[in-house]
Amino acid sequence: MGLQEYFAQLSRGVDLVAECSGLSAPDLQAMGASAQDAAELISLHTIYFGTTPYTGKQRLAVCAARRNRHTLSTLHHIESFTRRITGKLDAWNLRVELCSTPGEHVTAVARRRLREMRVPRQHTERAQLRQHPNGLATLTVTGNGLDMADAFRTIDQQHPGESFIARMLGKADAARAARTRVTTMAVLQLEDYGKLVRREGDDVLVRTTSGTVITGAQLVERACASEGLITVISRTLGPVDLYRFERFASLKQRTMLAAEHPACAWPGCTIPAERGQFHHLTPRKHGGETNVANLVTLCSYHNGVNEDDPNAPPRRGRLARKGGKIIWQPPHTRR
Ligand SMILES: [Zn+2]
Repeated sequence: MGLQEYFAQLSRGVDLVAECSGLSAPDLQAMGASAQDAAELISLHTIYFGTTPYTGKQRLAVCAARRNRHTLSTLHHIESFTRRITGKLDAWNLRVELCSTPGEHVTAVARRRLREMRVPRQHTERAQLRQHPNGLATLTVTGNGLDMADAFRTIDQQHPGESFIARMLGKADAARAARTRVTTMAVLQLEDYGKLVRREGDDVLVRTTSGTVITGAQLVERACASEGLITVISRTLGPVDLYRFERFASLKQRTMLAAEHPACAWPGCTIPAERGQFHHLTPRKHGGETNVANLVTLCSYHNGVNEDDPNAPPRRGRLARKGGKIIWQPPHTRR
């Protein structure tokens, strides 16, 4: 008899919730409910009988839950799904649908709906580098599916990192190139060249650990570093040529610049040249050329504070070449 009564009560889930009207959790506990049951009942009461802008949905849900003889545990189960939805209306729609669903199908229907509601992640071309404490790093590149599949196939699963780098940089000197020349590439002042750059067809963006952004194409062309060439992207050529590539500062030029200034050329700065950035004394947009006479190595900080634009408000002064030497001109100096 006890069981029969219990089952009869069980199928009256939403009516039991209705009976909580005017009661508080402590009231329910005083009636013998556990603290958890009391809290859950009150929260269900708020949903099914509390104030809501969605009274129509609420009514539908109550009727449907009653019709399907949903138990309290089914009602809780339904909430475990609706609470994953941010929009209140969407949550109500799901609640109504699940209340209208026979108990044994609630989970399947809920999972399907949640799956459908999930906004598919919009993948765009990108590349990411994560450095790990043990000296390894993970490079993640998203690009054209076919190209990526081709690239993936070239990776030797026994030695994935090694084979990948060997292929990217060319086998000769691969490791050395990675450790030396790349540093120089990665510290180029990319603000001069655009933050997000895209090559026709396959654009890839690489954010280095130092926070510098270089393109995956640059990464690919690290092989060119062995020829003393660094490829950067220029956006100073105008919007039409926004994504055009330009060879920049040959090995010879870099050697000459480093010889002139083994450290950042800003007075007093000691950041070594190999960690520096190439700075155009006369900005490219004002006709400055990429040749040794117009280049100087600056650390990223001083490259940033240098007054490039003659029309911009004076800040920290700027570097200029006078009589073949690099000098610092204080703010307000006329060119
Ligand atoms: Zn500096």
